[in-house]
This record gives sequence, C-alpha cells and structure tokens, in this order.
Amino acid sequence: MDFTELYETAVGMRFFAYTPYYDFRVGAALLAENESGEKRVFTGCNVQNSAFGANICAEHTAGAKAVSEGYRVFRAVAVAGGMGDEISEMVLPCGVCRQFLSEFAAEGMKVILLKDGSPAVFTLDEIFPRPFAL
Ligand SMILES: [Zn+2]
Repeated sequence: MDFTELYETAVGMRFFAYTPYYDFRVGAALLAENESGEKRVFTGCNVQNSAFGANICAEHTAGAKAVSEGYRVFRAVAVAGGMGDEISEMVLPCGVCRQFLSEFAAEGMKVILLKDGSPAVFTLDEIFPRPFAL
C-alpha cells in the first residue's frame, strides 16, 4: 500500500467517526510491523465522549489497535479530518498522539497529511522533534 492509498484509507475511516458533540470527523490509517516483520494497516476514527477528556483521536485508536495485536513498529500514519464532509488541510496529530506515536515510531516514520489538495509526506521527527522519553 503506497502513501496515497494509506491516505485514502484514512479518508474512508471518517465514515465511522463518532462525533455527536462537534462534527469534526477524523480517520487514520497506520502501517505497522510486528516482530516477524509482517506489515499490516490498522485503521481508526475519532471517538468523542460527553466527558471531552475521554475523547480518543483517530490515530490513537489505530495505534492502540496495532499494539494490542503485536504490531509495535510504526512505519507510517495517514490522518484525514475536517468538519462534517469537509476535509481540511494539515490536520496534524495532537500533542498526545504525537507522543503516543513516538513511543512506537520506526526511524523516519512518515506522517501523511493533506497539503495543497494532495497527500503530502512528512516525518514524525519534523512535526515532533523532541518527544518525552524516560
Ligand atoms: Zn490526538
């Protein structure tokens, strides 16, 4: 799956977003690898909650699914989001998600976002250069 396909998968995941409180719909598609070197795409959507602090972001959902199935090396993640049916430019992972992704990020992990109307490839290092680490 190339990065454009990964992005389109993220766009499709917006359909499942649970957004009754504010209609900002986000989808994510994460390419991850397990200990055997097998690669798989995990998907996610944002899941809102009436207690807003319990909201879960799309890329966080996808990442938790990957880790829970033994895929702990994150190679790339695509994120697509916007209000209602709109898809906005540069919907970046929030700070919590950047930290979460950094825990499992492979060297040079890619982040695919919409820029100038097309999927564009960034690295996690570019958007989160100094993660917290114990
Ligand atoms: Zn987030």
